Amino acid sequence: MPVSESRVLILMSRTGGGHLASARALAAEFERQRPGVAVEIVDALIDHLVYPINRLPGSYDFLVNRTPWLWELLWQQTRWTRLTDPVSRAVRVLSRPRIKRLLAASAPDLVVSVHPLVNALVAPVLADVAPATPFATVVTDLGSFHPTWFNGGTKVLFVPTEEAAEIALRTGRPRASVHVCGLPVRAEFAEPPASRTAARAAFGLRPDLPAVLVMGGGDGIGPVGAIVRACAAALGRDGRGQIAVVCGRNGRLKAELDAVQWPAPVAVLGFVDRMAELMHACDLLVTKAGPGTIAEATICGLPILFSGFIPGQEEGNVDYVVARGGGRFIRQPEAIAEAVVSLFGPDRAALAVMAESSRALGRPHATTEIVARLSGLLKA
Ligand code: UDP
Repeated sequence: MPVSESRVLILMSRTGGGHLASARALAAEFERQRPGVAVEIVDALIDHLVYPINRLPGSYDFLVNRTPWLWELLWQQTRWTRLTDPVSRAVRVLSRPRIKRLLAASAPDLVVSVHPLVNALVAPVLADVAPATPFATVVTDLGSFHPTWFNGGTKVLFVPTEEAAEIALRTGRPRASVHVCGLPVRAEFAEPPASRTAARAAFGLRPDLPAVLVMGGGDGIGPVGAIVRACAAALGRDGRGQIAVVCGRNGRLKAELDAVQWPAPVAVLGFVDRMAELMHACDLLVTKAGPGTIAEATICGLPILFSGFIPGQEEGNVDYVVARGGGRFIRQPEAIAEAVVSLFGPDRAALAVMAESSRALGRPHATTEIVARLSGLLKA
């Protein structure tokens, strides 16, 4: 068996789909740039924290879906939590033996965090057990940043925008340790499929009608069903468009939508692995303001209608895109449907302008740049 030249440990957690998608994008790019490097992706919170703290990330879906007010309260309150607070200290002390075991078993030459809560838990332990091993953080939010992204001993920080860099610099870290690159997304988003017609056929979409893609992150959260019903009714009357709906890991939503007799063409999809192909095959996106989805859609030049956002971390993402002309914020399903019909019909010119503004926000080389810099932290 060939011996790996170096080992990289990427730490994420399965709260939503974005952190895992970013981790996989970085791993794939390491494979391309440095095939000899062994990359391991680990859920540091669910699989390596002490019980019952490791159960908390599992309640994320429930909180953001069912009690968003409580999630917002937690997000806002924890912004002011200091690392020296008793609860925060207790979590770190209780988790320390497990984190130590993880680092000993993985023996990494570089640790990369793509989750804000990982930093303060892991970086101090790494500094004790392997002080020469670099710890880097890749921020995977776009417009709102929880302070935990920027604390906890991260030596090298990758941020998506200049605004994020400004916030990071206000915490007193040196400019040279902050790199503005964009969000890491899978390389295929930058490569349109050779045939759009073939891509459409692969997802059950017709070649002759404009297509709106409706989704709600990796877990299919938010009023996705209501939006699809409203859009299908409007497009059924108008006859000028079709819908692809991605239910992600939300099996209940998929079953519910599979059972509907639609008045317009609707392709109901579960978890889609080839999301780049699907985005390139569509003309408009309706989504919650997930940072991963936005980064991907802008690279594809897909205009965005935001139907909502997870309070706290996604709020700033809406402004980030809307202020730059790449999208609009419309909460009511019926109003979204009206906008879709209009953008596919009399307002087609506005759709084209939005598409160009969206494309201008895309950072197709973010992952390549981030991995090239991370690679520089490894021995040659
Ligand atoms: N995603 C995917 N297949 C699906 C649904 C979502 O690959 O069926 C990916 C999507 O392309 C994006 C991520 O899941 O990379 C969602 O991340 P985002 O930050 O938008 O939202 P989150 O799920 O973290 O709330």
